[in-house]
Amino acid sequence: MACFNDSDTQNPDMPSSFRGNKQSLPSKPCAVCGRPMSWRRKWARSWSEVKYCSDACRGRAANLRQP
Ligand SMILES: [Zn+2]
Repeated sequence: MACFNDSDTQNPDMPSSFRGNKQSLPSKPCAVCGRPMSWRRKWARSWSEVKYCSDACRGRAANLRQP
């Protein structure tokens, strides 16, 4: 990833929580909406099986799979 530290002070659209990867927790995109999901402790055992960021996306995926 590139370093955006040069001129990121004027970007009100960016949530401040998005900036700065203090912790090097793993993350991957949701299979449905594509949003990056950050690792959560409750996923510690099933991280490789986690595909959706929320129950809503899980439901959407189920709907998409229906023939
Ligand atoms: Zn999602």
